[in-house]
Amino acid sequence: MASSPREKEIIHLDMDAFYASVEVLDNPSLKGKPVIVGGGMKRGVVSAASYEARKFGVHSSIPMAKARRLCSHGVFLPVRMERYKEVSDRVFGIFRRYTPLVEPVSLDEAFLDVTASVRLFGPPEEIARKIRAEVRAETGLTVSAGFASSKFVAKIASDMNKPDGLTVVPRGKEQEFLGPLQVGRLWGVGEATRSALAEMGVQTIGDLAGVPEEAVVRKLGKHGAHLHRLAHGIDDREVEPEREIKSMGREETFDEDLLEILALRRELLDIATRTAARLRSHRLKGRTVTLKVKYSDFRLVTREVTFPHGIDDGGEIFRQALTLLEKTEAGKKPVRLLGIYLSNFGGEPGRDEGSGQISLFGHRPQPGFPAPRAPGVRDSARTAKLNEAVDRIRGKYGEKGARPGTLAEED
Ligand SMILES: [Mg+2]
Repeated sequence: MASSPREKEIIHLDMDAFYASVEVLDNPSLKGKPVIVGGGMKRGVVSAASYEARKFGVHSSIPMAKARRLCSHGVFLPVRMERYKEVSDRVFGIFRRYTPLVEPVSLDEAFLDVTASVRLFGPPEEIARKIRAEVRAETGLTVSAGFASSKFVAKIASDMNKPDGLTVVPRGKEQEFLGPLQVGRLWGVGEATRSALAEMGVQTIGDLAGVPEEAVVRKLGKHGAHLHRLAHGIDDREVEPEREIKSMGREETFDEDLLEILALRRELLDIATRTAARLRSHRLKGRTVTLKVKYSDFRLVTREVTFPHGIDDGGEIFRQALTLLEKTEAGKKPVRLLGIYLSNFGGEPGRDEGSGQISLFGHRPQPGFPAPRAPGVRDSARTAKLNEAVDRIRGKYGEKGARPGTLAEED
């Protein structure tokens, strides 16, 4: 018998201070220290902070410079996305032992629909306990869980007893659970909405649930109706496993604006190489390459090229991005940010009719940079083989294990 949306059993799982915890895992001497992972000191932002650092007011998305002021004795570390991805894959592997209905929200967060898993694995709280125990046993990391009848309530619940917590909201108790919470916890309530609601005397979710829906709609329009439903714990959205990835890429904000072409090319090569490795780890090939350039005056331009075949090779992506870069004012105007994104996934890999001479990262006409090739030249089977070797090395020795010689010079 199909269960109505209100009878879903949803678990929301969220790793605790994920990036910072992985850093402590990889370097136990950091245990108990304020660990802060993020971008450059000048313009970077905090991506994750350990609980020790949070005591000083450091949390994700504040500028690194501010974090330094708040916690000068902190341990500041760069983001190691591929290492976090590796650990994330193992954690998601554990999630999928209990249900195929796993919706990734980010590297360290997911919704699980365990409605159909109860018969096999026991009550949902039990499943949540098992998952938490296995994540701890197999990765050494902790994950907090929230169990409820909807995605919305499960997500709020998982946040309630962090770190290393499990919060259960029994069916029918949603409003009791939500009532006392600040209205700002509702998805879609930013500063403007919060103050509009405050004008109606609404501070808590319970207040909002108590106001007639028409009054909220009069104040906030359709968005108001959605919030009013959430305040009643109503959220019919399904767990969507493997939401289709629309685009994948990477961008870098530089500590100093870049004007010199050689420096821009070097950064572009690094971004292309890492993006390619990520595509391959997802077995994706993109037909559209999009270059993103932000100048020092914050003006943003994008350029893109599409060709019939998907690509996932770092050298090829770099070549395409470079061609696009030449169609911007980079080198004439200082550049603050560069980004490369691949999208439009699919397209049969083709044979490489071109050079026939391939070194580890393609032929290098210019010392340190791959040979130019006509746009859209197909991936060669040999390049694919080489990249497999590269990915094995990176998997074993991390992203620095195998990179274009040009980039290795910087270490
Ligand atoms: Mg987390």
